[in-house]
Amino acid sequence: MNYILWFGKSVRFLQNLRVLNSFSLLKIITTKAQMQQELAMQQGKSIGFVPTMGALHNGHLSLIEQSKQENDFTVCSIFVNPTQFNDPADLERYPRPVDADLKKLQDANCDLLFMPAVDEMYAKGETWHMDLGDLEHVLEGAFRPGHYQGVTQVVKKLFDIVQPTRAYFGQKDYQQVMVIKKMVETLNLPVSIVRCSTVREQDGLAMSSRNVHLSNEEHQLALTLSSALNAIKESVGVESVAIAIEHAKALILSKDISLEYLVVVDGATLKDISDWNQSKELVALVAAKVGKTRLIDNVVLS
Ligand code: AMP
Repeated sequence: MNYILWFGKSVRFLQNLRVLNSFSLLKIITTKAQMQQELAMQQGKSIGFVPTMGALHNGHLSLIEQSKQENDFTVCSIFVNPTQFNDPADLERYPRPVDADLKKLQDANCDLLFMPAVDEMYAKGETWHMDLGDLEHVLEGAFRPGHYQGVTQVVKKLFDIVQPTRAYFGQKDYQQVMVIKKMVETLNLPVSIVRCSTVREQDGLAMSSRNVHLSNEEHQLALTLSSALNAIKESVGVESVAIAIEHAKALILSKDISLEYLVVVDGATLKDISDWNQSKELVALVAAKVGKTRLIDNVVLS
């Protein structure tokens, strides 16, 4: 495969170059200074941005595809952000299949990859706090204390560096999209946040970089999460909210799965609802551990 790693003005070809089978080469940069040069060259163009932690799958690629449709120039970043991991073991075992990622980005015709090292992104002893209100302490925030501080810290830096017109995030991380929108609103950042649908395996499992950790048996167990969410969706207007949640929880708890939360909430506030007609966007969200792997998923019900 062919891609370019851009070091200032010199271009170095990596790996064994084969005959070009694509017209575009993926350009890879690793520093803020290089991004500034790149932005100067792309002046006047709309920039779509897809921040990721790598271990790319079709969910990530769908964001890149949408960005390519809606912008002149698409930037993807791969950065496994240490400040958003509250469990060091989780950070340690986060998958980093760099070569496979580069190939996927090349095949997706992504224009530019920003792949910084940790010390390019963070100064020593740096601190950060963003007021996220209740969003910080419920659901993911409750089970992963500090997670959204780390997420906002890195996304704000990435927005400053990439200066995107639009940034693309997956609905799979429903609360994350809300948090990012809240930050953009609070800080008046000049970027539009686009929420993209969750991409699933054929069997219904939401694609996730962490799925590689699942054994076949665990993969089968994990399917219970999307089944439980679908069961709630089918119960809308048929059973009460409380009964629908109870049945879905029973489905999960009948398996060897460690349930963290399963809720039906108002999509605008993440507050529990008791009536299907209570809000404009209703969403059912679940988080659970299957073996050692923590998974999240959600479905919009209305
Ligand atoms: P991550 O690499 O896990 O930080 O994810 C990078 C972006 O891809 C985030 O905006 C995620 O919400 C999004 N994403 C992850 N999985 C999926 C999926 N299955 N479908 C759509 N978007 C996804």
